Amino acid sequence: MMSNERQVDLLVLGGGAAGMTAALTAAVLGLDVLLVEKTERVGGTSARSAGSLWVPNSRHSPPGSDSPDNALRYLRAVLGNRLDETRARAFLDAAPEMVASWKTTVRSLCAPTRITRITGRPWREPHCRGACWSRCHSTPPF
Ligand SMILES: Cc1cc2nc3c(=O)[nH]c(=O)nc-3n(C[C@H](O)[C@H](O)[C@H](O)COP(=O)(O)OP(=O)(O)OC[C@H]3O[C@@H](n4cnc5c(N)ncnc54)[C@H](O)[C@@H]3O)c2cc1C
Repeated sequence: MMSNERQVDLLVLGGGAAGMTAALTAAVLGLDVLLVEKTERVGGTSARSAGSLWVPNSRHSPPGSDSPDNALRYLRAVLGNRLDETRARAFLDAAPEMVASWKTTVRSLCAPTRITRITGRPWREPHCRGACWSRCHSTPPF
């Protein structure tokens, strides 16, 4: 009798940018991954977005132009008491590494990928404390 059971190292729910990034990274690291999407198509909200990444202090930021504390000041100013500082700090710690490893990962599997910093493009609330113009990255494949 056929069984529908399958054992995997990682089960990812949702085929948007977050799920696909997690699945791709895990697959490249050698894990057996199953990505499950509840709709007919992968893409989610990500497929309708502008595809840009907001990542402070990535390797594309001019050296010394920004800092995690400065980015946190900005998030505090924009989000006020809705900010979850623990999650924000986790994001600010991990996101630059994500940009670096994602770039290598995608390049190893697909056509050449270019992530570039968008200069001169304001993000939301550019006048808030901690605002900085070097955090928005374009991801041309998307
Ligand atoms: C017009 C527009 C422009 C935007 N522009 C930008 C931008 O420039 N920069 C930016 O950073 N953000 C932008 N955003 C926001 C950004 O698109 C979202 O924050 C981001 O796409 C969320 O990604 P995600 O992977 O978390 O979720 P999603 O892309 O929504 O993916 C979630 C997926 O999970 C699936 N799913 C849900 N529940 C289950 C389940 N139980 N089982 C299986 N699958 C499930 C959903 O069907 C969906 O496919 C924009 C949004 C819009 C609408």
